[in-house]
Amino acid sequence: MKTIISVQDLVKNYGIFQAVTGISFNVYEGEIFGLLGPNGAGKSTTLEIMETLRQKTSGEVMICGMNLDEEPDNIKKIIGVQLQTSGYYPGLTLFELIQLFSGLYNETVDAMALLKMVNLTDKAKNKYKELSGGQKQRFSIATTLINKPKIIFLDEPTTGLDPQARRNLWQLIKDIRTQGTTVIITTHYMDEAEQLCDRIAIMDEGKIISLDSPDKMIDDLVSSGFERPKQVKAANLEDVFIHLTGKGMRDN
Ligand code: ADP
Repeated sequence: MKTIISVQDLVKNYGIFQAVTGISFNVYEGEIFGLLGPNGAGKSTTLEIMETLRQKTSGEVMICGMNLDEEPDNIKKIIGVQLQTSGYYPGLTLFELIQLFSGLYNETVDAMALLKMVNLTDKAKNKYKELSGGQKQRFSIATTLINKPKIIFLDEPTTGLDPQARRNLWQLIKDIRTQGTTVIITTHYMDEAEQLCDRIAIMDEGKIISLDSPDKMIDDLVSSGFERPKQVKAANLEDVFIHLTGKGMRDN
């Protein structure tokens, strides 16, 4: 497996507070890598340093063979970052927004093909504010793909979405990976991490306390003698919800 991101002894201090306390990890090319952890663990700080949006205190970050300290502008060209929604000019349609962003990136992009990829072709002439929550997230993911990046960073992409919309997004993220893009994602949903991620790093208090595949982490816990306190049913409430309201594409 080829390493695409290498983080060594990364430290971030805010004043005297150490938010990231010397973490090291590698991300492999083509994987979906999850950053998990409770609020305040240091996930966003780590993510934003890799995205070149925040200064680190010390440590070394290499992205696609480029050193973050030496070539931040070249790194920006090969990564995709979700833009702040405040940047979505209210008067423009999705089609126009993609054309505008393409121009900013100096790229020529087939806006309709990109909207098709995220299943928004029929919304091409709509404005961002006219979209549902799931559609907004899909559009936001489309914007990360405009510069044809090697790596995309997704910060809690399914927060606040209904179960169908979350499943649609999981499929989209898997499709993006299938096309060869490495995905770094943060989430608070463990089912999402289990479904999507090849490997996850669990952070707490600025440290990585575990890093492995979800499967291996679960097996390790079970082999340590852990048992669930009560018998697990063959389905859960989410299964009931999906069963009753349908799993197919909706207007989400
Ligand atoms: P997470 O994304 O895991 O919730 P963050 O990286 O946002 O964690 O924050 C890690 C810690 O650093 C938190 O205690 C947070 O309060 C602190 N922190 C984050 N950003 C700043 C900042 N700009 N100034 C001071 N402290 C910050």
